Amino acid sequence: MNRIKVLVTGGAGFIGGNFVQYMVNKYPQYDIYNLDVLTYAGDLTKHRFIEKMNNYHFVKADIADRDTIIPLFEKENFDYVIHFAAESHVDRSITDPGIFVRTNVVGTQVLLDAAKLIGVSKFVHVSTDEVYGELDIDPTTFFTEETPLQPNSPYSASKASSDLLVRAYHETFGLPINITRCSNNYGPYHFPEKLIPLTISRVLNNQNIPIYGSGNNIRDWLHVFDHCAAIDLVLHEGVDGEVYNVGGHNERTNLEVVKTIIHALGKSEDLIEFVPDRLGHDQRYAIDPSKLKDLGWTPTYTFETGITQTIQWYLDHKEWWTQLLNGNHQNNDAKQYNTQLSWEL
Ligand code: NAD
Repeated sequence: MNRIKVLVTGGAGFIGGNFVQYMVNKYPQYDIYNLDVLTYAGDLTKHRFIEKMNNYHFVKADIADRDTIIPLFEKENFDYVIHFAAESHVDRSITDPGIFVRTNVVGTQVLLDAAKLIGVSKFVHVSTDEVYGELDIDPTTFFTEETPLQPNSPYSASKASSDLLVRAYHETFGLPINITRCSNNYGPYHFPEKLIPLTISRVLNNQNIPIYGSGNNIRDWLHVFDHCAAIDLVLHEGVDGEVYNVGGHNERTNLEVVKTIIHALGKSEDLIEFVPDRLGHDQRYAIDPSKLKDLGWTPTYTFETGITQTIQWYLDHKEWWTQLLNGNHQNNDAKQYNTQLSWEL
């Protein structure tokens, strides 16, 4: 019997990287292909423990490069596509929106064409709750799958655009798809430009921690391992054509998150530095995950257990994040990107 071939795009990044490791270990009977172009956010050293496993394969390629992607699909005849590859940082989308349109919109369309051409069994598009726009601080309101798309940043607009293309390929061509929309993730191998790893690294280096505005913007935090399990479930059990929200009801203000990390590391709140607010900064995200729970998913981490474990992981892997901060990982363009560090998803 032929082995199942699973293509994971963006598997050198934060969530895709954790997902590749999860799949390689959980499904020895599947061949897992990690396709990544290795931007500043891609890093292969995280896969040193799986790279020799027989069911792991790496392909360096750009999802927007049609002349590479189409022949690759024709050659490998993938069964499943799990699409993570993206430009993912809101601040960068404010300074350079063009690359977000190219990667997140054009790249997704190239993958959809390739998936349609060979007739994959499932295309899972990994999206974000940010496509819904923002909620006010009323704690009883949540994003459901029926909430209208109202993206506010170039990043979320590019993700919403890709969601609509995925939906259209299902409606028009019958491509078997699911879309997942997850809240903010944290956990191992999170690139140290995002709020939690940046705060940990700066506290450990006794550097100020910049916080936008008053720090009262609310995010709904989910451990990346719970996100991986959710995508696995949607891949195998998701109803064709459906969207699933992913979140664990762990709402915290940015200030609460930063203070939690400072206290856990025994440092002073004097490290906090309030800076002018981000343009178009969304007030609050909060997910209603009922539909995914009905499918059988339950998160295993509370924010308290997850953040404690994550802080310990960063203490144990200082060499990894220091090399990324210094632009010393394998990607040639990392130095250029890392000169403009910012601090929130
Ligand atoms: P990331 O920035 O850590 O990783 C993105 C990966 O995509 C990198 O390895 C990068 O090299 C690769 N990539 C970028 N452009 C590419 C291209 N043209 N061709 C091939 N590979 C390319 O991102 P992440 O935080 O792991 O997010 C992964 C996905 O999950 C994204 O689609 C994002 O929108 C979504 N998401 C993220 C979060 C979060 O909290 N980080 C929450 C919900 C959804």
